[in-house]
Amino acid sequence: MPRVVAPKPVASGFGRTDAPPRRGPKRPALQAVHDAIVSCELCPRLRRYCERIGREKRRAFRDETYWAKPVPGFGDPQARLLVVGLAPAAHGANRTGRVFTGDGMGGSGDFLMAALHRSGFANIPTSQHPGDGLALRDAFIAAAVRCAPPDNKPTPEEIARCLPHLEAELVALPRVSVVVALGKIGFDAYLQLLKRGGVSARPRPRFDHGGAHQLPNGQTLFGCYHPSRQNTNTGKLTARMMDDVFTKVREVLDPGCRDPFAENAIAVGRIRNEHVAETAKGSRHR
Ligand code: SF4
Repeated sequence: MPRVVAPKPVASGFGRTDAPPRRGPKRPALQAVHDAIVSCELCPRLRRYCERIGREKRRAFRDETYWAKPVPGFGDPQARLLVVGLAPAAHGANRTGRVFTGDGMGGSGDFLMAALHRSGFANIPTSQHPGDGLALRDAFIAAAVRCAPPDNKPTPEEIARCLPHLEAELVALPRVSVVVALGKIGFDAYLQLLKRGGVSARPRPRFDHGGAHQLPNGQTLFGCYHPSRQNTNTGKLTARMMDDVFTKVREVLDPGCRDPFAENAIAVGRIRNEHVAETAKGSRHR
């Protein structure tokens, strides 16, 4: 683990796990942050690409209306776990408007959600479309870049330009204490974001799968291989490897939890029951 240096003061409380509880109008509501993301036009190359993909479409989705706008994060506003991906997939989140959603059977969204489900952070093991009933508990998923990039490769300038959106979401998520970065680009982007807020770990953490890094702001940063098909189809990333990461996450969030997966199964059941109750309540009001 890197040596931990004393935290510098951060004016907004950003990234600090000892940030004061959310109160009053100063902390931006998550919805306002999301509205700002969706209307962002700062990267002409990416905006043009997303809109073109939305017009041309993939044959399988030709009857659908693509989202084709920047994609905000998704999850529990009280989350202690933040998962940071790279960017929306052209025919996945750029189509559905929800991060890690709709990139096909066995795609990265399903792979990630299955792991989050097994570890009790998600109520269902798939992520197929915004109306699928997926709910996250204690977890929030976002991306370093909010517009789908050509070839899944945003430029360094585009990453830097987009980071304020992740920063704004973090300010609106005051309980986050563990971050799982999916892939080296997301990992480095998160460190870049912290550095901009005056938080630097020395020596600089290096990305490795399953590695845990204690950050000066009190957060724990985990590296995890990105669940891209390229990684999951070749066995570079297996379900077991992803479970190992989320088991460690549970140990940090809930120390003393002897069998996190068994206890999380109870939590998942609770989420499912609440979802069923919510759905029943909704149908009564219709
Ligand atoms: S990538 Fe980010 S900064 Fe660039 S246009 Fe999309 S939302 Fe805005």
